[in-house]
Amino acid sequence: MARIGIDLGGTKIEGLALGADGTELARRRIPAPRDDYRATLAAVAGLVDWLDQTIGTAGEPPGTASVGVGIPGVVSPATGLVKNANSTWLIGHPLDRDLAAALGRPVRLENDANCLALSEAADGAGANCRTVFAAILGTGCGGGLVIDGRIVTGRHASAGEWGHGPLPWPQPAGPRTPEDERPGPACYCGRQGCLETWISGTGLADDHARITGRRLTAVEVATLAAAGDEPARAALDRHADRLARGLAGVVNLLDPDVIVLGGGLSNMPNLYEELPARLAAWCFSPDVTTPIRPARHGDSSGVRGAAWLWPLET
Ligand SMILES: [Zn+2]
Repeated sequence: MARIGIDLGGTKIEGLALGADGTELARRRIPAPRDDYRATLAAVAGLVDWLDQTIGTAGEPPGTASVGVGIPGVVSPATGLVKNANSTWLIGHPLDRDLAAALGRPVRLENDANCLALSEAADGAGANCRTVFAAILGTGCGGGLVIDGRIVTGRHASAGEWGHGPLPWPQPAGPRTPEDERPGPACYCGRQGCLETWISGTGLADDHARITGRRLTAVEVATLAAAGDEPARAALDRHADRLARGLAGVVNLLDPDVIVLGGGLSNMPNLYEELPARLAAWCFSPDVTTPIRPARHGDSSGVRGAAWLWPLET
């Protein structure tokens, strides 16, 4: 049976169909209707219909493929309604049930960071690893956990979400941290000093702007640093140390076999050169050698993980 994966993002919706052996049969990306729940349902249904028709010509009967959907949020186990979504027009709706009704088949819905972790654990940077922790470092900061090939969702569907805990071991202002890390920047969740406000792409850009007075994107900061710009290089240095502190908490709690990074910042080579030693320095165990790898499937990991929500054997 073929499997369809949908990555429902804030600006685009990507669809992918995999054959029973995991080979890619079809793929399409469309713009996401913003601020319109009904239009979002219609767009996903249209995309699944297109994938059904396309793989139907490849020998699969239309309408029999399983459908998994990754969203930047979760379905609350308590209410069955979407929560914690930065695509705010999804919040409060029974998205999985509405999609199932529209598509005439059951639909599995998962958080996009969990889809990244599942995809990379299945046949990516975390293949053959029992415990995979994956982090998305982009506009925000998400986390997902897969153990023995299964997503750990948790009682409140919030397992792995370590971006809204505090930055560990906050430092006072000094030579390495030009600003006091306490109480830290205000976060949209209502608290101050969340890890996300320091280690996401937005956090990196904000840190650089506060110290230098120059408002640049995270990619521009990384490009400047690669060209030898000292303030940009220092911003990357602070960012790597803060990320190492955040991941040290993950290692102390879960001791994953691998840490996989996705999202825009995962393309920064300095992370793979510097993070392992920095991480080891903050961990309780004196012999930490946890590999830190970029997502092998890059931007496609979300949609691949959504397809993987339906295992081959079911
Ligand atoms: Zn927060």
